[in-house]
Amino acid sequence: NTLLSIKDLHASVEEKNILKGLNLDIKPGEVHAIMGPNGAGKSTTGYVLSGRDGYEVDSGSVTLDGKDLLEMEVEERACAGLFLAFQYPVEIPGVSNLEFLKVAVDAQRQARGEEALTSAEFLKMAKEACKQVNLPVSFLKRGVNEGFSGGEKKRNEIMQMILLKPKLCILDETDSGLDIDAMQVVANGVNSQRDSERSFIVVTHYQRLLDYIKPDFVHVLADGKIVKSGDASLAKELEEQGYSWLQTEPTEDE
Ligand code: ADP
Ligand code: MG
Ligand code: MG
Repeated sequence: NTLLSIKDLHASVEEKNILKGLNLDIKPGEVHAIMGPNGAGKSTTGYVLSGRDGYEVDSGSVTLDGKDLLEMEVEERACAGLFLAFQYPVEIPGVSNLEFLKVAVDAQRQARGEEALTSAEFLKMAKEACKQVNLPVSFLKRGVNEGFSGGEKKRNEIMQMILLKPKLCILDETDSGLDIDAMQVVANGVNSQRDSERSFIVVTHYQRLLDYIKPDFVHVLADGKIVKSGDASLAKELEEQGYSWLQTEPTEDE
């Protein structure tokens, strides 16, 4: 059983080919780290999976739970269990975090055929999630991403993940400014949500995050495709040797 299956995916942005034959299979419960040089297409992969405007799929296929992901609207993808952490950081004036989160959770529950939560039930859940990511409960009353600091945005993302309980969570940690504190919030969030059903793609430039989140697999994405896969030790090798030694490797060795 495979949760996510990406086959020979080619995608472009503004007529420029970015993904050039990406293949990736993820089983339930697995954590996959994606590393690779700048401009390789890591963030593009997340955007393509989430169905973001402007990211065109040229060929290939993606299924989530056996269903064609590329055919789905953005909202349908979220309801099907896909979560992209950097999908939300927009300011929505006049809408509180609590309201925003409830709408998102309600939509997911409805898609799964579950009963809607009462406001009181949801408030209780949301307060617990706040505690888990070390945000004050008053945070729920604030506007969505209104004047959030970098650390608060990160905590907010992880809180959304905890409440939405996605099947596949994509975290894109490109931030060079991700300090130890924020790294631990991300890692604790992932580790606390990790179970035999949930899967994660953790995109990161830094091996260090993987000291806190132990990936089952590490992939190197270079020039729009995966050029090397391995276990967690691959991240250590990359930390020591960089990426250049991979570029010339024949594809048969993948
Ligand atoms: P990574 O996350 O691996 O650093 P990206 O996926 O952000 O790489 O970018 C891959 C390539 O796509 C880069 O060459 C980048 O310049 C280009 N690209 C990404 N987004 C856009 C965009 N909106 N418009 C034009 N080019 C883009
Ligand atoms: Mg980049
Ligand atoms: Mg990126």
